[in-house]
Amino acid sequence: MKILKFGGTSVSTPDRIKTVIDIVVDAQKSERIGVVFSAFGGVTDQLIQISQIAATGDDAYLRDLESLENKLIEFTKALISAKRQSKVFASVKSTFNELEDTLNGVYLVKELTARTLDFILSFGERLSAYILSEAMKEVGLETEYVDSREFIKTDETFGAARVNIEQSYRKIADFFRDRTAIQVITGFIGSTIKNETTTLGRSGSDYTASLIGAALMATSIDIWTDVDGIMTADPRVVPAAFSLNHITYEEAMEMSHFGTKVIHPSAMQPAFERNIPIRIRNTFNLEFEGTVISRNRANLEYLISGISSIEQISLLRVQGSGMIGVTGISSRLFTSLARANINIVLITQASSEHTICFAVAPEEAARAKEAIEREFALEIQAHQIDRVIVEKDLSIVAAVGENMRHTPGIAGRLFQILGKNDINVVAIAQGSSELNISAVIDKTDEARALNAIHSAFFKKESHAVNLFLVGTGRVGGALMKQMHEYIARPYERKKHDLNIMGIANSRKMLFDQAGIHQANWRERMDGEGESMTMEKYVNTMRKLNLSNCVLVDCTASDEVANWYKAILESGISVVAANKKANSGAYHDYLELKDLASSNEVLYLYETNVCAGLPVIQTIQDLVHVGDHVQKIEAVVSGTLSYIFNTFSGDRAFSDIVLEAQTKGYTEPDPRNDLDGMDMVRKLLILARESGLPLEMEQVANNNFLPPECLEVETVDQFFAELINLDPEMKAKQEAATRKGKRLMYIASLENNHAEISLKAIDETHPFYLLTGNDNIIALTTRFYDETPMVIQGPGAGPEVTAAGVFTDVLQVATHIKTIKEGES
Ligand code: ASP
Ligand code: MG
Repeated sequence: MKILKFGGTSVSTPDRIKTVIDIVVDAQKSERIGVVFSAFGGVTDQLIQISQIAATGDDAYLRDLESLENKLIEFTKALISAKRQSKVFASVKSTFNELEDTLNGVYLVKELTARTLDFILSFGERLSAYILSEAMKEVGLETEYVDSREFIKTDETFGAARVNIEQSYRKIADFFRDRTAIQVITGFIGSTIKNETTTLGRSGSDYTASLIGAALMATSIDIWTDVDGIMTADPRVVPAAFSLNHITYEEAMEMSHFGTKVIHPSAMQPAFERNIPIRIRNTFNLEFEGTVISRNRANLEYLISGISSIEQISLLRVQGSGMIGVTGISSRLFTSLARANINIVLITQASSEHTICFAVAPEEAARAKEAIEREFALEIQAHQIDRVIVEKDLSIVAAVGENMRHTPGIAGRLFQILGKNDINVVAIAQGSSELNISAVIDKTDEARALNAIHSAFFKKESHAVNLFLVGTGRVGGALMKQMHEYIARPYERKKHDLNIMGIANSRKMLFDQAGIHQANWRERMDGEGESMTMEKYVNTMRKLNLSNCVLVDCTASDEVANWYKAILESGISVVAANKKANSGAYHDYLELKDLASSNEVLYLYETNVCAGLPVIQTIQDLVHVGDHVQKIEAVVSGTLSYIFNTFSGDRAFSDIVLEAQTKGYTEPDPRNDLDGMDMVRKLLILARESGLPLEMEQVANNNFLPPECLEVETVDQFFAELINLDPEMKAKQEAATRKGKRLMYIASLENNHAEISLKAIDETHPFYLLTGNDNIIALTTRFYDETPMVIQGPGAGPEVTAAGVFTDVLQVATHIKTIKEGES
């Protein structure tokens, strides 16, 4: 005998129900089965709402009731063949009449007791199990509808009734004896000795299934849900979370008490006592083999089994000198809370006995404070106990696992991780079962804490870098391609795991925690993308609150650059191809660097100068080891490089500029290259990297273009003016040639002076043989003083720029890895 239980989402549409029936058909082939159903998805909530409306004396409840009825009729139509429909309709209809009568009563007396509500809720499960038992007959299964009130016997705590185990087991055993048809059973509901309807608490169908499974000594209790079993953490908060194959009852109980409610904790007890495995399966993913919950688990691969959390709690602190050494204080404290029906989530008391701390749900905090202050009114008056302090907006994170019992140092490691991530711990507790270590922290730190703990304890997944790209132009596009080739490599051939989680351009943005793929990212952006604002983009990134994120800026946008500070402050690294931030005020440049280091993240921008050529990194490394930059000479514009490398005298200067423009080597308006401003920005950055606190105005731009060229409006007018410059350029060029020199537009830094100017250089100069549109840079330093260090190569183009950006990204990955390894 095997028990299968399906929850609301598994039976939320006729299509889903068909999948469920397939599962049942399959399961009954090998074994006798019983099937437990919850109400159809959302129905319990609807019934509660309808009842509440009725109880206010508002007849609007009738409208909602009707739409619920229509929904059930729809389901019936979709699942039952025409010739059997009328019989099923009749039965559904008569059940509905009973429900309508009850609600009418609520409406008339304007009162909704817990007892009545339980009765009303029972219709949800009764209707679903009945309709489903009929639907199964359609595929030839022999089924019988069973109302579990027949054998689940409870006390009279309506809303959350306690089951009389012995009596219920006996009745279940009696009931199931000699039945051959598949029993299709209502979950969630039971009855008192007086046969009044009760419910077992929200999500109680799991418990029903477990009770029946235990009573019948089933081989297994299969709980079918809509997720891949029990996971190491909530995947909505921790993207690296993965499904567990195996977990013990106690672990599952701890995990489900906190956060992720895959299974109701009460379902564990019956199965545990009779040692019946519970299997959590996913109706939406039949491939997933399930998480098995049993007494022992074989693999103790990880130190902990999972991490869970309670998002929102309040902490109450009772303290005072009058508490020290006095017996009975805590007993009075907790008795007063029990009387006020307040559930305590966590308790700690310092051994100084000066304070007792406990956590409750936020909505109960005020009542708890009142109850205590009433209880200790005299002590408070006498100042033996101070007032009760309530701290709000806190979360609890907990590491759970059997392994903790046997392994020292887990708590130490946990708190070390929190410390390293700058997360303040407000209170801690460890159950003496050693199955759970809990830390109370600020709510704003919750996601970061969960991710940090997860990556430290589940190391396999720990080093993935989560990347958010802005800018999908030529460089961004080439970067996506290079990164996807990397991601596709076999694991042994890469050092890092990369996950592209967000991508945006000026119009659209797209997020996917499971990763955005090369094959379809453009289509997905157009299709699913939301409209882009940098604020939303950054906030989404922040909300994910992952400790290993990097923003990559492949735009030339001031707006994007203005966000760097906020991003770095959130503990997210920035890789910028965009040079706007570094060529703004010196103060801002410095602040970005400081923010990066104080937040232990990286701010990298190798491609700001000479694209992928290792210029910035080289200067940084030299400065770092104590070298001192004495002189920089550079051709840092591919366009200007090309123009002067081609300008040899036999052709007019304007002609060459026009050719460069036609070939696409220049900006659409060539003045954006010729005005030297781009070189100014790059030289400024080089100077700053060398340690000079320079502002843009301090870079002398001795531009060779006359004002007439710059002032005219259109590009055509510009070219017309440029022709007038030809004789002068020709004269300069010829003068240089006569002296065995050539002309070159050079950025230079020497004696703290930075300038861009047209120079004539002779053959001893390292730039003399420059060709094409290469960039070149010569560094003369304390160490490289006889001849300079020269770096040369293509300094533009999507591929090389993307490769430079990618190098920075991987550097962030290495940084993250180092930090993570330090944590564990
Ligand atoms: N239908 C009930 C609820 O929504 C019981 C269950 O789903 O297990 O709480
Ligand atoms: Mg570079």
